[in-house]
Amino acid sequence: MKVQIIIRIILIHFTFCLYSCGKEKTTPDEDRPKEILTIPVVVHVINYSPDPFTISDQKIRSQIEVLNLDFRKKNPDHLNTPAEFFNLVADVGIEFSLATIDPNGNATTGIIRTESNLTGIDGQDLTGTTAIEDLRLYFTEKGGQDAWPSDKYLNIWIADYSNRLGELTLPGYANPPGSDPRIDGVVIEPRVFGTLEPLALNHEYGRTATHEIGHWLNLRHIYAGEKNCNSSDLVEDTPTQYGSYTGHPTHPQESCGSHDMFMNFMDYVADDAMYMFTTGQKERMHALFQPGGLRRQLFLNSSH
Ligand SMILES: [Zn+2]
Repeated sequence: MKVQIIIRIILIHFTFCLYSCGKEKTTPDEDRPKEILTIPVVVHVINYSPDPFTISDQKIRSQIEVLNLDFRKKNPDHLNTPAEFFNLVADVGIEFSLATIDPNGNATTGIIRTESNLTGIDGQDLTGTTAIEDLRLYFTEKGGQDAWPSDKYLNIWIADYSNRLGELTLPGYANPPGSDPRIDGVVIEPRVFGTLEPLALNHEYGRTATHEIGHWLNLRHIYAGEKNCNSSDLVEDTPTQYGSYTGHPTHPQESCGSHDMFMNFMDYVADDAMYMFTTGQKERMHALFQPGGLRRQLFLNSSH
């Protein structure tokens, strides 16, 4: 199993390089957005101790690389998009870079590490009644780490989300636009982060962060409501879909009277089975940056 995973990682790196290291372009220049927004990222590594999952700086950087492929339509596997959806695949025009200046104006690597006994569940309000101050993951004095200002940075917390027996229970989650700034960001499990070991099966390509940052940028799941044709993801060019898909479905699959776009980053399929955002999703994300939008200030504070 392990050897298979390593071979797949080597293969995807080789494939990425074929496209991104050479001159070959997957989209003509005129289709590229003129203005690229670059969002500074701070990664808060909450290292559960004793923790078998070492999160190296390289693993973190490998995740940033994935984001900069997926949100720029530079991921070579977007070419797998079925013909009927191919014209909808969007270059979202957003890039991410590890912060170089901290909120106090000092130089930083954008990676902050804390040893504590907290796990991902310490950042999640499971009942809907937990006071923000009790979500310890987001507070340095409680064993987590304080968010950096969400009008200047994307906060990513990396925290084990397991039953402490090594079983992955949830890959990650997002606190969406409009969240209290103290928790605004995404939480990702170390074993689904980046493209370097340790990695969980079906989470080898860093797409959990792509998906969760999609939520952080206001996207809903492609299927909107589970087992429901009367719900909407509020995006016009994504077909209505009855429920989520997992694993590796084959196209076409049909529900609610149309073919399903399960290969969208906002479904639940395996990392190597999802590879596209649509133009409508791009527009919904960018609406956040317009005057009056919930991430307008982040836009104004970021380079573009
Ligand atoms: Zn989701």
